[in-house]
Amino acid sequence: MKKEFAVIGLGRFGGSICKELSEQGVPVMAIDNNEERVNKFAAIASHAVCADTTDEQVLKSLGIRNFDHVIVAIGDNIQASILTTLMLKELGVNKITVKAQNDYHEKVLRKIGADFVVHPERDMGRRIAHNIVSNNVLDYLELSDEHSIAEIVASSKLGGHSIIDLNIRAKYGINIVAIKRGNDILVSPQADELIQTGDILIIIGADTDINRFEKKAL
Ligand code: ATP
Repeated sequence: MKKEFAVIGLGRFGGSICKELSEQGVPVMAIDNNEERVNKFAAIASHAVCADTTDEQVLKSLGIRNFDHVIVAIGDNIQASILTTLMLKELGVNKITVKAQNDYHEKVLRKIGADFVVHPERDMGRRIAHNIVSNNVLDYLELSDEHSIAEIVASSKLGGHSIIDLNIRAKYGINIVAIKRGNDILVSPQADELIQTGDILIIIGADTDINRFEKKAL
């Protein structure tokens, strides 16, 4: 059985989730209270419905509790986002992902039991900032407030040295969890693995340690 998803709020964020899921052949119900937006998604989503999701009866009639994962992408109207999330929770939806507008919004969403809270603008801003500071940082994924996974390009400073030679774990407190080399991926590389210039290293650690590593080793 394929998992079923519902996306509430068809702005740029919710709309792009909806499109991507549909392109991957995943059934998705697109919901918005703006008829124009719903019409735009009629040909993209498996169902497109015009509904106000702050109304419990409306959510019930959509059979929302039967969906495996509901994404709440209502941005500007924080009250509607919170009310919708609360009701989805009360109706027993299995997994709920919500887009937060700010830290206070996120706090409330976590309190009422949202499973995943995302801040697309903030997170993308952080990723771009890391990429601007160091051209070698390709991607940056926050695991918590203090820990992240980063994808970095090995500079010539690292090339030709083994992981043990570089002593990265002891010096910087970070771990290399995988190396991408061309089309190959080496998962959990051995300590004697020779790093080549241009390898993409996937590292995990505390943000402060990753920053130190970015500044000194790249
Ligand atoms: P984005 O930043 O993702 O582009 P946006 O600024 O285009 O978002 P928002 O105002 O953040 O749009 O809201 C996203 C969508 O949520 C809008 O299309 C809006 O009509 C819809 N929406 C707002 N309130 C409700 C509600 N109570 N029920 C259903 N949909 C709603």
